[in-house]
Amino acid sequence: MKFFWPDPLDLIDPTFNFKSEEGLNGTAKQQNQLFPHEVFDFPLYHGFVVSKIYFDKGSCCRWNSSQLNRFFREGAKRFLRLPLESSLSVMGDSGAYTKAAFDQAKGHLIDECLEVINFYNSIGVDYGLSPDNVISGLWNEIRTTNQGEVPKDWQARWARTLELAETFYFLHKKKMSKWVPMGVAQGWDPISYQKSVKALQQIGYKYIALGGLNSLNSKDIVSTVKACHEIKNNTTNYHLLGVSRLEHMELFKQNGVISFDSSMPIRQAINDDRNNYHFFGRNYLAIRVPKSSASPKLTRLVAAGKLEYKELRRIELLTLNVLRSFDEGNASLQDVLDILNCGIKYRNEKDYSKEYKQLLKDKPWKVCPCPICKEMGIEVVMLRNRERNLRRGFHNLFIFSKQLKKSSLFQE
Ligand SMILES: [Zn+2]
Repeated sequence: MKFFWPDPLDLIDPTFNFKSEEGLNGTAKQQNQLFPHEVFDFPLYHGFVVSKIYFDKGSCCRWNSSQLNRFFREGAKRFLRLPLESSLSVMGDSGAYTKAAFDQAKGHLIDECLEVINFYNSIGVDYGLSPDNVISGLWNEIRTTNQGEVPKDWQARWARTLELAETFYFLHKKKMSKWVPMGVAQGWDPISYQKSVKALQQIGYKYIALGGLNSLNSKDIVSTVKACHEIKNNTTNYHLLGVSRLEHMELFKQNGVISFDSSMPIRQAINDDRNNYHFFGRNYLAIRVPKSSASPKLTRLVAAGKLEYKELRRIELLTLNVLRSFDEGNASLQDVLDILNCGIKYRNEKDYSKEYKQLLKDKPWKVCPCPICKEMGIEVVMLRNRERNLRRGFHNLFIFSKQLKKSSLFQE
């Protein structure tokens, strides 16, 4: 099984100082920041998924124009600093997922495909996904709310995705592009996915990505993958777009899946109310220590006269001090819980004291073998700012890769 990392934009600043909360790089340049594969002496992934949408000027790109120019000048592999001797690959993606909110089923088929192919050719990919129109929805919901009728919009997206795949395949051949074309299958139930896969195989695709599955529950993903396995040619292989259910990976593998991609380790590190810090066997909630001066919510409450900035800041600094003392063995668990409770009450936050107590009792960061935890100590379990949160995401990525490796699913 090959794991692709779909996040070429989140890098950490190695000069960031956790006490002063400043990086020497200031607005750190991409050249001075680190990708996960530059932090860990351990194979984390087999390559990157590089989405076109991130590099389209004026879209959701966080890089400035000189960085973008360098990206296109150097090509993806040099820009991502993938070691030349490594077998790390680049999979190009049209970015349909992020475009899902807009009307996708418009535009000229050939122009749309050519634009994507030219992007892949210019940055140098190993694999290229055909442009698609995402169908995101639960088929079970339809059966109950729409008398079994499939919305017209979904049908249009499904048909358009196949038209795009056919044109894309033809143009890829015509342009004699060296990378492997991947057909994207969309659907709303196992049958519609099967139909997509059949059509893609007829077009000539041997590497097919199943899209639109990431918001479904595991049961529905499993039944879709199984259904696609039933009609797959011997030479067809599957990729799962944005799906990382570790517990089902072995089953996916048995059903023809050879690769997947997922940004779950970073996403959960930052935006989850349960699983921020992953560890072998269990996950933990990170400790919320909001920065009084940077939190929009707290700033609003201060402006409205509901909280005093001075008191917020006093609790914030005391919390940081007590957490650090606890990590050094100079404060008790109760000392930390007391100040955390004080913050929870003053800021009127959800009471996570039970979750915090479990984390502080187990102290997983003390035994984690990854360089992030070794360097950061207790700072890694604080949900506070970008540099801490991203490092926790890198740690999660390390744990994820270790787990994949342990289950012998990580292809060497
Ligand atoms: Zn770690």
